[in-house]
Amino acid sequence: MNPCSTFTCLRCSDCCYFSDLREAPILLPHEVYYYKVLAKYLGVKLEFIQLESGLYKWVIKGHCPFYEHSTRTCKIHSEKPLACRMFPLLLDISEKKLMVSSLCSWVKKCLQVVTSINSEEDIVKLFPSEYGALRELVKILYSSESVIAIAVRGNSVKEQLNMLREKCIIIKILESSIIENLYLLILTNCSSDFVEGTLGLNNIEFMIEEKLTHQ
Ligand code: SF4
Ligand code: SF4
Repeated sequence: MNPCSTFTCLRCSDCCYFSDLREAPILLPHEVYYYKVLAKYLGVKLEFIQLESGLYKWVIKGHCPFYEHSTRTCKIHSEKPLACRMFPLLLDISEKKLMVSSLCSWVKKCLQVVTSINSEEDIVKLFPSEYGALRELVKILYSSESVIAIAVRGNSVKEQLNMLREKCIIIKILESSIIENLYLLILTNCSSDFVEGTLGLNNIEFMIEEKLTHQ
């Protein structure tokens, strides 16, 4: 099979090492809250800087604190930030421009294929799951409605989801593979009072409303 027909991570870990703050991932507000919850349980220290846009820069010097050296993998792979899930796709938010990072080893290896991209279809074909993550980001960034992000812990969350569905549109449900019974929910089209009443305050690790204005 042609190694350049679809993006395949070479696990070189280059994108988990940051020698310059400019390269570090940009996170959505709810991601900052969520990784603080994970960090609390995992005993990891994290630092973030809020940017003018309302987004956050993750301050990482050297390897990411979630990088596992012995296995050369990401400890939070199934719940890593959208910026990491999208990589090597990059979004210039102000210009609404999609780019492909030349820092990625696979991109360097398959540069001819990458530079011949000339349609959205080509991008979807080459980066199917990364494009899925990009779509999730776009949905949150450019939504005209407020987006409610909640981290909730409890063993009845799955049953409560049906009640939430009655009023809210569920953008995302993430069940943590690291912390038992921890869920990250991204919702829109409903009120925080309704969400609080349905899930019960005691189980909520955090709840924030994101209204990012990048229209
Ligand atoms: S969260 Fe995971 S994928 Fe993202 S930089 Fe850290 S180790 Fe790498
Ligand atoms: S730089 Fe590219 S190939 Fe290397 S680990 Fe990151 S995504 Fe995979």
